[in-house]
Amino acid sequence: VIRCRAAVAWAVGKPLSVEEVEVAPPKAGEVRIKIVATGICRTDDHAIKGCLADVQFPVIPGHEGAGIVESIGEGVTSVKPGDKVIPLCLPNCGECTFCLNPEATYCLKCHFSEPQNLMPDKTSRFTCKGKQIHHFLWISTFAEYTVTPECAVAKIDSAAPLDKVCLFGCGFTTGYGAAINTAKVKPGSTCAVFGVGGVGLSVVMGCKAAGASRIIAIDLNTDKFAKAKELGATDCINPQDFKKPIQEVVTEMTGHGVDYSFEVIGRVDTMTAALASCNMNTGVFVMVGVAAPDAVISVDPLLLLTGRTWKGSLLGGWKTRDCIPKLVSSYLEKKFNSDLLITHTLPIAKVNEGFELLHAGK
Ligand code: NAD
Ligand code: ZN
Ligand code: ZN
Repeated sequence: VIRCRAAVAWAVGKPLSVEEVEVAPPKAGEVRIKIVATGICRTDDHAIKGCLADVQFPVIPGHEGAGIVESIGEGVTSVKPGDKVIPLCLPNCGECTFCLNPEATYCLKCHFSEPQNLMPDKTSRFTCKGKQIHHFLWISTFAEYTVTPECAVAKIDSAAPLDKVCLFGCGFTTGYGAAINTAKVKPGSTCAVFGVGGVGLSVVMGCKAAGASRIIAIDLNTDKFAKAKELGATDCINPQDFKKPIQEVVTEMTGHGVDYSFEVIGRVDTMTAALASCNMNTGVFVMVGVAAPDAVISVDPLLLLTGRTWKGSLLGGWKTRDCIPKLVSSYLEKKFNSDLLITHTLPIAKVNEGFELLHAGK
């Protein structure tokens, strides 16, 4: 058993509490990882606030980390102690019908088919003050050590800087992949990205890498626009600066609407606006934001009848165990600069300050 620090969410809506926790050794088919760095994704905030389906408290959140394998359970073959790894919030078992289908983008063993609040054997590896603590998406990266199933770990290049590539555990991978894999943005096309936080900026990077000629970034927080432009946005607009609905603004700017629109906020009103912003015939709308569990969207069927496509994207639609290490290698080859997404670096003791910065739009 390892004693270390972790940020525990004891109950819905309470700030995280940095505690000493006990982390049990990995059982058969599991890996114990020393987490070196983790990002904060808005989905952690949704989870802490009780706005993510099927999360159980107390819980150690965090799902955008990178670390080093400390020990492995019986039967683990794909990683060994000392390997640099990224824990996968969407596993890749390699055996289920989704994993075996080249067209399918994620594994059946995801949180959406079966909650991942405990290890696959339905027990926890975390305790604190005598209480069992739940896992989050099987990976709980807000802990100095965590235990994950082997199918939720990807070995990466030993040269990778863990304090930078932790973003490949979620934010960068999600946004970049939503443009490249889900939308399949074509060279010369037009794109609109609703919400340019960490994930939305990664969508902008993906659209740019795919050769889009126009990338419209849309956000209420104009402070986000400088970074959006640096990463490839050609136009930045704030819906508050217009009297008419933002979908009409985007449609006028582009003639008939963009080829690809993305919602990267998690609100039904902006999802509807993003759907209406892509052109009525061949437009593709990709939903990335996670709406509240009770959210329902009502749309005019004509929006779809005319030919638009509405897609969802989980973690950017990669086969995670194979593709995330390749993305890390592309990063090392300087094919893109995801370091620009990093705004602040804090020690784990200041994790709540990190969430305050997120809430403040910084
Ligand atoms: P973030 O908070 O950093 O970014 C959200 C951005 O949206 C902010 O810049 C904010 O100013 C802007 N915004 C808020 N309300 C707006 C409005 N009404 N109109 C325009 N802009 C508005 O969050 P993030 O970490 O980038 O995550 C974005 C969303 O993506 C979240 O819902 C998160 O849960 C989701 N997410 C989904 C996946 C996936 O696999 N599909 C993965 C990661 C994150
Ligand atoms: Zn995330
Ligand atoms: Zn699978």
